[in-house]
Amino acid sequence: MATENIANLLTESRTFPPPEAFAAQATCGSLEDYQRLYDESINSPETFWGRVAEELHWFRKWDTVLEWDHPHARWFVGGTTNLSYNCLDRHLDGPRADKIAYIWEGEPGDQRTLTYRELHREVCKFANVLKGLGIAKGDRVCIYMPMVPELPIAMLACARIGAAHSVVFGGFSANALVDRITDAEAKAVITADGGWRRGKVVPLKAAVDEALPRTPSVQSVVVLRRTDSAVDMRDGRDHWWHELMADADDTCPAEPLDSEHLLYILYTSGTTGKPKGIVHTTGGYMVGTYLTSKYVFDLKEDDIYWCTADIGWVTGHSYIVYGILANGATGVMYEGAPNHPAPDRLWDMVERHKVTVFYTAPTAIRTFIKWGDEHVTKHDLSTLRLIGTVGEPINPEAWMWYHKLIGKERCPIVDTWWQTETGAIMITPLPGAVTTKPGSATLPFFGVDADIVNEAGESVTPPDGGFLVIRKPWPSMLRTLYGDDERYQQQYWSQVAGCYFTGDGAHSDADGYFWLLGRVDDVMNVSGHRMGTAEVESALVSHDAVAEAAVVGFPHELKGEGIAAFVTLRGDAVGDDELKTVLRSHVAHEIGAIAKPDQIRFTDALPKTRSGKIMRRLLRDIAAGKEEIGDTTTLEDYSVLTKLREED
Ligand code: ATP
Ligand code: MG
Repeated sequence: MATENIANLLTESRTFPPPEAFAAQATCGSLEDYQRLYDESINSPETFWGRVAEELHWFRKWDTVLEWDHPHARWFVGGTTNLSYNCLDRHLDGPRADKIAYIWEGEPGDQRTLTYRELHREVCKFANVLKGLGIAKGDRVCIYMPMVPELPIAMLACARIGAAHSVVFGGFSANALVDRITDAEAKAVITADGGWRRGKVVPLKAAVDEALPRTPSVQSVVVLRRTDSAVDMRDGRDHWWHELMADADDTCPAEPLDSEHLLYILYTSGTTGKPKGIVHTTGGYMVGTYLTSKYVFDLKEDDIYWCTADIGWVTGHSYIVYGILANGATGVMYEGAPNHPAPDRLWDMVERHKVTVFYTAPTAIRTFIKWGDEHVTKHDLSTLRLIGTVGEPINPEAWMWYHKLIGKERCPIVDTWWQTETGAIMITPLPGAVTTKPGSATLPFFGVDADIVNEAGESVTPPDGGFLVIRKPWPSMLRTLYGDDERYQQQYWSQVAGCYFTGDGAHSDADGYFWLLGRVDDVMNVSGHRMGTAEVESALVSHDAVAEAAVVGFPHELKGEGIAAFVTLRGDAVGDDELKTVLRSHVAHEIGAIAKPDQIRFTDALPKTRSGKIMRRLLRDIAAGKEEIGDTTTLEDYSVLTKLREED
């Protein structure tokens, strides 16, 4: 029974071809063009990727595009380059020098802009600050900052001198900081006196102070003054950012680095357990994030691009910093909460900054739906031309809301599937070329040989579901897990022979489109039928009363597993027994009686990671009535769990 394929339950038949006007100006404007380039990228990867890499600057050209010693890849072997150079210096010879790189807005409303020339200068100065603190090529630097321009400045300064950064999301606690600093043996920590979040100061420096007695590798701490809150400064160890910068030289040539030089370590959010130190290197990651940014976001010289992710996640690394700057685009950066001072903050910013390309997460979209349409409709969003999502499967009804309310039925939507491990977007529509279907990430990006297989590694027959795997190496792939190559091999390369194992379930349809079904760990087995979580959740969300839903399996005497649904309601809907009955038959009607939830619980909030993803493994413990709940260090708000258990 265990080898049975994952069922495909939901059928979605709405299709949205790229609007003609969009296709006419797009970087890739037809399905034929996509197909031609895709075929070349798979059949002649060396030619394809070599040509892309030529668009960027190399101090020394590579000898070989790819060396593949399963499961270890080396890209652009023998080449030397610098990602900071490609994001900054490369733009300084022409009209982009005085183009705005970042439009930044703090939560209290303060604003700053930095041109490419200004950003370059700050990065050079901070690179010299790092050198002055004894940071050299190969060292690791931990960055624990709010969403302020100094965060990308610190990252680009590290990349410039060949020090690797490990950015830790500012919402993590001192304990998370200890684990990550220790694992990477970071020599320095870059932080701030605090950051603004919902009108309050997040005390970052205090968390660093709490962590540091347990992290002997750290020799110095640089503290940015952001909130003017009082902090303790330890003599000899702690330095103010502005004092060091005041004396710093603004000349710092970018170091030529081997293509496989360590660029950064990023610890994944830990939806599934102990954080893993994902390792990304220089050349391949640069080429991958550059090309995906260019094609998926269709970047043009006059675009104002805004990704709402925090730079503490991979989305921010690749699509606020490296891929976007490598394209010389203008990016918006925002420090604070989406509902401060009011739930229309993001739409107000889209209007004021005339944002053209907007990239966010399904969790945010579901929250906007819950908050109500009036916060959106009072703003002029007519500058938008392309919108996107990342992070979780998007329920078709949330997709439709995004399409209508934000995209005004005019903007293509790019639903981008990828992971911290993949470094860059892997499955996505190209907005001028691919017809979209609500809930599908559609087709693989160039160079991505994606497939869906069963436990024996055989391709399943559509529309059956199975494990999503990648059959060939790609430039921006993770190289290993920091300090634990064995775990790297075991986790990603031993589940399905010869393939990269993503840990996600998917099925495809007659057009070869990919539909993500949720994590393989969350698959339910109901009376011998294996079901992903995404489709049952989408069926619930397609009911008018429902804003968000999470389903999990729980032990059931007759069926093996029963289905428990945790449901958050929209606006004024009332969660009573009658609605439970209605929702059960709604699911049965949408996808079949087999998927009918055995339990439905209404709740105000679901347990989520700090990056906003539903933590189903915790819900599984609750549904099973377990006394002990699994690891909760990455949980955003513990009180949500307490409440759910009290309602038990
Ligand atoms: P951890 O690996 O530590 O449990 P995580 O998987 O949440 O954390 P990320 O690398 O940020 O950390 O997220 C990648 C995962 O997010 C994917 O494996 C997939 O499950 C989900 N995901 C991302 N984008 C999409 C998308 N467009 N559609 C469906 N799922 C997505
Ligand atoms: Mg993951």
